[in-house]
Amino acid sequence: MSSTAADGLALRREPRPAGSVSLAAPCLVLDRSFQPIHVTTLRRAFILLYRGVAQAIDEEFRLFDFASWARLAAVNGDSVGTPSRRIRAPWVIVLMAFEHRRGMEVRFSRQNVFLRDENTCQYCGKTLPRSQLNLDHVIPRSQGGETTWENVVCSCIACNLKKGGRTPEQAGMRLLRRPFRPSWNPILRNGKTSAYELWKPFLVPIGAPHGVAED
Ligand SMILES: [Zn+2]
Repeated sequence: MSSTAADGLALRREPRPAGSVSLAAPCLVLDRSFQPIHVTTLRRAFILLYRGVAQAIDEEFRLFDFASWARLAAVNGDSVGTPSRRIRAPWVIVLMAFEHRRGMEVRFSRQNVFLRDENTCQYCGKTLPRSQLNLDHVIPRSQGGETTWENVVCSCIACNLKKGGRTPEQAGMRLLRRPFRPSWNPILRNGKTSAYELWKPFLVPIGAPHGVAED
């Protein structure tokens, strides 16, 4: 199906009443395990909803099929359509029969570890400028620890020195959380909109409103 579905919904870009949003605005697409997979347009999101391939998520994480979504009142003027037929903009949709694909993982890099850990030392919890942060091998390389998402964390220099060539247990230190491979590399743009606020819960652990920087 193509744009005929959207045409059938009487979704038009012109005229746009005050408070309405463009059908070209971005919509975050999740797989059925709520993993972000990509970003599409509201136009495409409506087509997927209308076909029953996707469901929309509201700010309370409830799922809606097209009919129930269309009955919701618009919030904060975030709607598309004409004055006679306004539909809330679905900023996040779930593909109901889609499993997360391989090959979309975030590349392991110093900058991406900082992003995952939100520039926060994983031992003492201090958030610091990147110039004052190091990467720490949880299991030291001297003890066979690998340079992987699961074994490298962001650490302040003081904690890094204190820990030395020891495991956290050996050093009597505790990790704030177990390090993990982030599920997705967010295709986010600069600038904040309500859309991005609604996306945030699904973009943890990356959490940054920017594309992932390379080293
Ligand atoms: Zn620290």
